[in-house]
Amino acid sequence: MKITIIGTGYVGLVSGACFSEAGVVVSCVDISSEKINKLKEGIIPIYEPGLEAIVKRNLEKGRLSFTTDLEEGLKESEAVFIAVGTPPGEDGSADLQHVLSAATDIGKLMKDYLVIVTKSTVPIGTSEKVRETVRAALKKRGMQIPFDVASNPEFLKEGAAVDDFLRPDRIIVGVESDQAKKIMERIYKPFLLNGHPLIFMDIASAELTKYAANSMLATRISFMNDIANLCELVGADVNSVRKGIGSDPRIGNKFIYPGMGYGGSCFPKDVKAIIHTAEAYGYPLKVIRAVEEVNNYQKEIIFLKIREYFKDDLKDKVFGIWGLSFKPNTDDIREAPSLTLIQKLLEKGAKIKAYDPVAMGEVKKLLGNKIEYSKDLYEAAIDADALILVTEWSEFRIPNYNVLSRLMKQKIIFDGRNIYEPLELKESGFKYFCIGRKI
Ligand code: NAD
Repeated sequence: MKITIIGTGYVGLVSGACFSEAGVVVSCVDISSEKINKLKEGIIPIYEPGLEAIVKRNLEKGRLSFTTDLEEGLKESEAVFIAVGTPPGEDGSADLQHVLSAATDIGKLMKDYLVIVTKSTVPIGTSEKVRETVRAALKKRGMQIPFDVASNPEFLKEGAAVDDFLRPDRIIVGVESDQAKKIMERIYKPFLLNGHPLIFMDIASAELTKYAANSMLATRISFMNDIANLCELVGADVNSVRKGIGSDPRIGNKFIYPGMGYGGSCFPKDVKAIIHTAEAYGYPLKVIRAVEEVNNYQKEIIFLKIREYFKDDLKDKVFGIWGLSFKPNTDDIREAPSLTLIQKLLEKGAKIKAYDPVAMGEVKKLLGNKIEYSKDLYEAAIDADALILVTEWSEFRIPNYNVLSRLMKQKIIFDGRNIYEPLELKESGFKYFCIGRKI
């Protein structure tokens, strides 16, 4: 069985590599020749644990190939997956230009029946737009090649993407023809051996499922951030409250950790997009709007605490920042809380020394020499007026407080992820600030 994947970003590359690992022959296509040339040599343009070995193994076995030539990529394929970016447009709606441009290219080049699968996160109705776009391109060629559209939203998490793809909780497929359903069943058969379900539904429901899932997760995060902020006011400890509610199986203990707000390439844009879709239908989606509002506030929460402590005098103060990626185990900095914080501190004239195990290259592309980049976590602490823990990479979990005491100008830690023990820090002579806990 042969398939094509268009787009070799976090989703397209992981999907393509994992399908090939399961025995499917995969041709991955991207418009970026720089990316494709690297990938042909087994060089992975993103940081994703476990991905490099799978790509190299399947390149060698000849099951995985990379090209910028879609015509070449489509040869002998039974399905083509569109996995290109859908960034937010200015009004918050998902920008579909890449998806529809891929659909046009497919219509221009396809030769036989294909299932055209949208894997990108797209608003309800997009698969229909893909169908119309492909039809229009075929019409221009004077051809009538049969095809089906399908929706197959992706639920992998950056940082654990390979494992998520190889061992999915569930696979959602929206299809409206038996032929397309059978092909999708064959493609995904190797991933179902662990008993997790392949759930078929209509296309609009599949498209909405992805937005509903991300909005629900974002809701849990914003809910817990709201509760954490209340804890500080009433003298409660959010860790106790979290354990207390998380032990109720109806609630569960996942995604109820307070912090600096959700970021990344998915939650912020998907929350915006579902609000926009609902508005287009005249429905206000009040809960999800509040989720976004709480998150916008929470992304500033550590900055507000810093400003309060230093009485708004941040000029020439030095801040060591630990962690830049939007979460651990990825180099993705899209919508990362670190960027909001850095911008706010720079506006106040502060100096920043940052360290992240993998994301500094990405931040350098964006901020250049506006901040300093440190070679390790301790270098970022030298002469710092305060340290700020932004992303909870494992290497930040048990720092040597004696070393920090010697290096820092002032012994102050702002912990945006609640990973340190207030008592331990107090005993080591540090001033400690965190989110919603008793200190
Ligand atoms: P990305 O920006 O990392 O990658 C997109 C790739 O598509 C780029 O390499 C780009 O060059 C390529 N591309 C754009 N237009 C093209 C075209 N016409 N032909 C060929 N290639 C083209 O994006 P991503 O993070 O992989 O996200 C892709 C989609 O998957 C988005 O809709 C996103 O919301 C969704 N998604 C992302 C994640 C995630 O964790 N990143 C998880 C689930 C779903």
